[in-house]
Amino acid sequence: MSGARRLAELIREAGSVVALTGAGISVPSGIPDFRTPGKGLWEKVDPMEVAHIDAFRRDPARFWHFYGARFQALEDKRPNRAHVVLAELERAGLLHALITQNIDRLHAQAGSRELVEVHGTIDHSSCPVCAARYGLEDVRRRQAGDVRGVPRCECGEPLKPDVVLFGEYLPAEALARAEALAAGADLLLCVGSSLEVYPVAQLPALTLASGGRIAIVTQGPTQYDRRASVKLDGDVVSELEAVSRALSGVLSGAPDSALSGALDSAGA
Ligand code: ZN
Repeated sequence: MSGARRLAELIREAGSVVALTGAGISVPSGIPDFRTPGKGLWEKVDPMEVAHIDAFRRDPARFWHFYGARFQALEDKRPNRAHVVLAELERAGLLHALITQNIDRLHAQAGSRELVEVHGTIDHSSCPVCAARYGLEDVRRRQAGDVRGVPRCECGEPLKPDVVLFGEYLPAEALARAEALAAGADLLLCVGSSLEVYPVAQLPALTLASGGRIAIVTQGPTQYDRRASVKLDGDVVSELEAVSRALSGVLSGAPDSALSGALDSAGA
């Protein structure tokens, strides 16, 4: 049995499936993993320096000069088939929730609903003083209209993107929810993550400790490979499309036509 078919079987058998995704799922959408050297925006800057909470507090103009470019680079990106397959699994009742480290909004754009964004999202920015929240388009307008290029709250304070910057704590509520989901999952499906960065590195251990299984769809080794029921090493898009096709037989009688339609296009 191929790895993809085995994974499809595990998904079918599990009462509760939770996906956990990292930067690798967005690479096919043209968003490089910043830990990959020599790629994109991070090539010329040290993320620890420019994307640090101290940099934001000390020099919001410099921070936003960089972060505005980052927003711009992410704004026009679109979900790829791997994002879409996960959204379709959820619609078909085969995936209960999705935890992601990514801030790029692509899971939401693909249609995932039960979404826990443990590192936040570029979708909105907030005022650190009065807590007012502004959507991305509004933030971009405010940035363009400011003489120093700093998007400001109505109260005058510089806005902060609702993403976890270096030097910041993770949002406690999202973290608690991610931990509860991982602990309660029969199957934790890890996609495009090297499972090295906290808190994502700890979540598979929670699943295993509660008697659940883990499956890994990621290129390159992870610390959990030997404890995984399935490890798929190929490209995330082709691997998830193969899983999706392997599930199509079971789902052919399913009322959700969105899934079968997408499965057709996956085979094209
Ligand atoms: Zn304010």
